[in-house]
Amino acid sequence: MTSRLNLIVLGKQGAGKGTQSAVLCEKYAIPHVSTGDILRNAVKAGSELGKKVASILEAGDLVSDDIVNQLVEERFKEADAQRGVLLDGFPRTIGQAEALEAMLGDDGIKLCINLDVPIELVTQRLSSRRVCQECGTTYRDSDVEAISGTCSNCGGDVIQRTDDYPEAIRTRLMNYERDTEPLLSFYGSRGLLVSVNGDQSPADVTDEIMKVVHERGLA
Ligand code: AMP
Repeated sequence: MTSRLNLIVLGKQGAGKGTQSAVLCEKYAIPHVSTGDILRNAVKAGSELGKKVASILEAGDLVSDDIVNQLVEERFKEADAQRGVLLDGFPRTIGQAEALEAMLGDDGIKLCINLDVPIELVTQRLSSRRVCQECGTTYRDSDVEAISGTCSNCGGDVIQRTDDYPEAIRTRLMNYERDTEPLLSFYGSRGLLVSVNGDQSPADVTDEIMKVVHERGLA
């Protein structure tokens, strides 16, 4: 079997993970696996899982490792994941990173890309973020779509995510520092970490990432 291109995009909330993930998945033809999207969809669909995690997501707290590990393990079994995946928002704790190593075995993570952005900038990005409830297109609070409340892409409602309210932003960034930042040393010690300056244009960030992927002979 050819080697799988398994990538992780790591970074604080609002660092641009979603934007970079979408572009990289298209370039490398691998699926975008975002545990945040999977969980939000479950809440929207009102499934058993959704009911269990709704209040956790709203507060900006972390869902248990057991739940997310199982979601990811299931996702890996799908046909489109056999060439590799781009993980966005997972792993978020050392426990999840260890579970991921066990799931992937020898053909494991090839690169962990850390989007480095100062906390002041991500706080500002998150508090001005608005999102279409239907198609997920993101806007700034000053965009006409945010002011009118209507998405120009699909006509859906443009709202502020409850986890982008100030109190939830504080909780999420605190959780990041406590639970997720240790992953930098986890992947650094395995020689898999690359940090990219996320405070530049999205196209420049993508170029920097692709250069590293190329230099490492990954694609
Ligand atoms: P995100 O869109 O990645 O910021 O995720 C939104 C929310 O989903 C987070 O604030 C958590 O409540 C939950 N979540 C997403 N991914 C994970 C994960 N790997 N572990 C625990 N909770 C998660």
